[in-house]
Amino acid sequence: MSTLPRPGEWLPELPGSLSLMALLREGTHQERLFILGGWLLTLVAAVALGLLSVRLNWSGLAIPLPSVVGMSDDPDPAGHLYLSIFPPLSLCLWWTLCFGWRWGAPPAYVATLALALDADMAPTWALIFAAANPIGLGVMALGYRAVGASRALRTRRSWMFYVPLSFVAAVLSSTGALIWTHTRQLGAGEQLPIWQGWWLGAFAQSLLIAGPLLAFTWPPLWRWLQRRPELRHPTPAGRRALGLGLLLAIVLAVQGFGLVSLGLGSLQLRLALDSRDWGQLAEAARVMLSTAWVFFWVFTLIVLFVGQFGYQALSRWLRSTEALVMQLARVNAELEQRSRTDGLSGLVNRMAAEDGLRALLRAVRRYRTPAAVLMLDIDHFKLVNDRYGHAAGDAVIRALARTLQDASREVDLPGRYGGEEFVIGLAHTDLPGALQFAERLRVRIADAQVQGPPPEGAARETGPLIRYTVSIGVAVMRAEDEGIENALRRADAALYRAKQGGRNRVETEATADAPGAETGTRND
Ligand code: GH3
Ligand code: MG
Ligand code: MG
Repeated sequence: MSTLPRPGEWLPELPGSLSLMALLREGTHQERLFILGGWLLTLVAAVALGLLSVRLNWSGLAIPLPSVVGMSDDPDPAGHLYLSIFPPLSLCLWWTLCFGWRWGAPPAYVATLALALDADMAPTWALIFAAANPIGLGVMALGYRAVGASRALRTRRSWMFYVPLSFVAAVLSSTGALIWTHTRQLGAGEQLPIWQGWWLGAFAQSLLIAGPLLAFTWPPLWRWLQRRPELRHPTPAGRRALGLGLLLAIVLAVQGFGLVSLGLGSLQLRLALDSRDWGQLAEAARVMLSTAWVFFWVFTLIVLFVGQFGYQALSRWLRSTEALVMQLARVNAELEQRSRTDGLSGLVNRMAAEDGLRALLRAVRRYRTPAAVLMLDIDHFKLVNDRYGHAAGDAVIRALARTLQDASREVDLPGRYGGEEFVIGLAHTDLPGALQFAERLRVRIADAQVQGPPPEGAARETGPLIRYTVSIGVAVMRAEDEGIENALRRADAALYRAKQGGRNRVETEATADAPGAETGTRND
């Protein structure tokens, strides 16, 4: 019987992150060497590249923006976009997405901490500042844990998830820029480049470096991870909470993004207005303009993302509910079938047999067609059990069930009534017809022999050949019967008389009850 799956099984498999403890305990020498060695290399490279990016001043590089709104005859571009290059991020993002946040976050933290200390940031601020990138990485990890999107990044769909999620993560990590500008007491004019540079740089690196890297490396990595499930943490439960966390992160990022970008842009504009310096004013206006447009495109991206995310969640939910309903229907049908079947004989059980007889009685009342009931009991069955054993008795019951099924037409209903008693409802059959059928059945059973199982401990021996007989009571259903019990009682009384009359015979209801019926066929 098929069983219902546990709730988690409906969801696509989420690869749990790699467990360090499991790797140390169960990993092969080679696995440990590659992963731990690669991770240490990453750590060193992250620190070195982080320091380099500050020393070479890769932060807030100005990238001229082509004119977006009707300023095409202006020789100046419409403004600048600022972009920072911070290479450790791509490495750490790759580790986070492939092996888990616990692998990606520490090098990101250490690299950021090192560059902050190198730039003479106060240590307490540096400790907080260094958490910015791990926060962004955490959002990436959270997104992929909440939604079972593919990390292979070889389909449009997987990119549709990766790109906006990267943006949300980039914005949330760029809170670090605010700490940077605050601790360095930079002016308003320098805040926007640093902040924009941070999120845009993180976003660009995520798309241009980490994404393609993932597209190439994830499929073989995933094959390996699937072969080594013992190295992974179990898949997290509580996906609803994860999904909620992801939505919260999105809302926080978008609102924060709007607030900071428009806030910093208008702060510059206000300062320029106050200074009454036209050159500065024009520059601030350009910055505001580009900021507003970036804001527009970011909003478009996020709306698309949320829509897509919702649609995916909804369609997955619909698919899984449909599958669940279908499975339930299948299991129900199976249960229903089982609840109506007798396990030993394979015939319908008493409950189902009675249902069949009730349907027969309804047909008798409505269409005035005749119908009959046969009650059948194995003679001296106790002796069969006593002589050959219970297993042999069971074999006789099974053989009898097969005979009943063979002998019956499709519309007839052989069922096991209990113990070694059987009942058969015969549709469209009058008393003479039922007697004929019963007599044929009796003879056929008396002539047959059943191969019993070999006695215990004698596996090679063949079992005994068992002969047995049955007694049958026949009754017809009457339209005026109150229920099937009436016909059953008459058939049972006839059966009793058959037993009394010496067994291996067919008896019908008393002559007074059924005028014109012949009673008592006997054949020893
Ligand atoms: P009679 O001719 O009067 O019907 O005699 P009998 O021995 O068949 O009748 P009785 O009712 O005294 O005994 C029926 C026996 O059938 C007793 C019981 O152990 C046996 N029996 C009932 N169900 C099963 C079964 O599923 N398997 C086996 N092996 N024996 C069964
Ligand atoms: Mg019996
Ligand atoms: Mg009996």
